[in-house]
Amino acid sequence: MTYDCIIIGGGLSGLAAGIRLAHFGRKICILEKHSRLGGLNSHYTKKGFDIDSGLHAMTNFTSKSGPKSAPLAKLLRQLRIGYDELELREQNHSLIRFPGVSLKFTNDFEFLRTEIQNKFKDDFEGFIKLDNFLSNYDSLNLSSDFVSARKVVSEHIGSPLLTDMLFCPLMYYGSAVENDMDFAQFAIMYRSIFKEGFCRPAEGIVTLLDLLENRIAESGGEIRKNCGVRRIFSKNGIAEAVELESGETVSAKNILSSAGHIETLSLCENKPANFADIPRGQMAFVETVGILDSPLPGYESTIIFFNSSEKFHYRNPEGAIDGRSGVICCPNNFQFQPSDPRPAPMIRITVLANHQLWDKYPPDEYKTLKNGCSEKTLSIASEYTGVADLRGKVKLIDTFTPKTITRYTGHINGAVYGCPEKVKDGRTHLGNVFLCGTDQGFLGITGSMLSGISIANLHLLK
Ligand SMILES: Cc1cc2nc3c(=O)[nH]c(=O)nc-3n(C[C@H](O)[C@H](O)[C@H](O)COP(=O)(O)OP(=O)(O)OC[C@H]3O[C@@H](n4cnc5c(N)ncnc54)[C@H](O)[C@@H]3O)c2cc1C
Repeated sequence: MTYDCIIIGGGLSGLAAGIRLAHFGRKICILEKHSRLGGLNSHYTKKGFDIDSGLHAMTNFTSKSGPKSAPLAKLLRQLRIGYDELELREQNHSLIRFPGVSLKFTNDFEFLRTEIQNKFKDDFEGFIKLDNFLSNYDSLNLSSDFVSARKVVSEHIGSPLLTDMLFCPLMYYGSAVENDMDFAQFAIMYRSIFKEGFCRPAEGIVTLLDLLENRIAESGGEIRKNCGVRRIFSKNGIAEAVELESGETVSAKNILSSAGHIETLSLCENKPANFADIPRGQMAFVETVGILDSPLPGYESTIIFFNSSEKFHYRNPEGAIDGRSGVICCPNNFQFQPSDPRPAPMIRITVLANHQLWDKYPPDEYKTLKNGCSEKTLSIASEYTGVADLRGKVKLIDTFTPKTITRYTGHINGAVYGCPEKVKDGRTHLGNVFLCGTDQGFLGITGSMLSGISIANLHLLK
């Protein structure tokens, strides 16, 4: 049998693309290497606790009565998922904390606007001009080249501190580029985080994954788990089939891959001439998840983006981790309803990590390093949350490193956000092989699903 389209990867972009294609009658099969769906955003059980492997928050919150043109509203319509099915709960508030100054934001943009007006008076006018410019910017143009966001922002805002504070959350949640971002990506993340804001499905990522998996089944699509793709066979610039790790061959008219750019090309027998020159992703993270004996007393913030040094450095660190900046997320601090099942009391701390260093340690040293980093990040979180005995409240620690990311998702260098150069139109050197997800350029939970849909619409539903 020949499928209309094989989708490599059952992460959020692959699942969304699969639903879209199946709705239009295409015969599709999603091939996922692992036993669980979700890729970077999956879930697992450890010592009886259900833990989301990625979820801090979904971006792009919109209320049920919000504009129909909002990205999340459009996304749900295209996937035929009812708004209420996700049971979204909004963040309490989040903070950007830098030395001597802190900016608080909620899902109401006016709150951040007022914070900036009060704390950065001289730059307020420039900030408003930047905000207007961003509102009118075509960030979804698939043919635009890289434009330095640092440069564009500096044309509006004079304060390096405010600039760094605005960049910090946007980079942590979506930049594959060191110390800068593509302005289109900046515009997307600015809207996703500051203008629309954070939420989560009441029960975590499993709600979304179950909905997506059910939609695929209802629409006649197929999902095969534990089915890694080992090779893509092609002839005269056209892919004909894939070979699975089991040795089985599956043929298709088109292939949509969410595995990543380099990762997908690595599967091709015939690689493009520039393969060695395509820049590899470098941005990797260590995240410590601490399950607590009870919720943190008096601590209400949903997410803190922190930086303790004079300048914010977002780059591959020299040491195993760089604890000067990072993200602290408390999944319990969303606006839950009384009937909601609550996540286990938990804190998640994410910092930048050097993938080369993590890669080279032998297993026993790797374990020691991991334990040391968990302790260090917990002490950082203790400082920012103001909970002095945070370590004493932790009853289970789990830590993922760049090696964990590579093992569970195949992303080389543990690069969560993939290659620094995105392939916005999703095309590869093979005429019927397309990229979606991380390396197409729309990142995060909402972004990767939009990516799957956009590329399916663009190339496979004409
Ligand atoms: C720790 C962490 C926390 C995050 N937190 C958030 C958050 O709070 N909010 C947010 O919006 N975003 C978050 N993200 C980012 C978000 O998870 C990703 O941007 C998004 O899930 C990417 O989806 P994707 O489909 O593009 O890629 P992936 O999730 O990487 O999916 C690719 C899939 O392809 C499979 N695959 C790879 N190679 C093969 C092969 N050869 N054969 C078969 N299958 C293959 C992989 O197993 C994987 O399932 C987080 C990411 C991480 C790592």
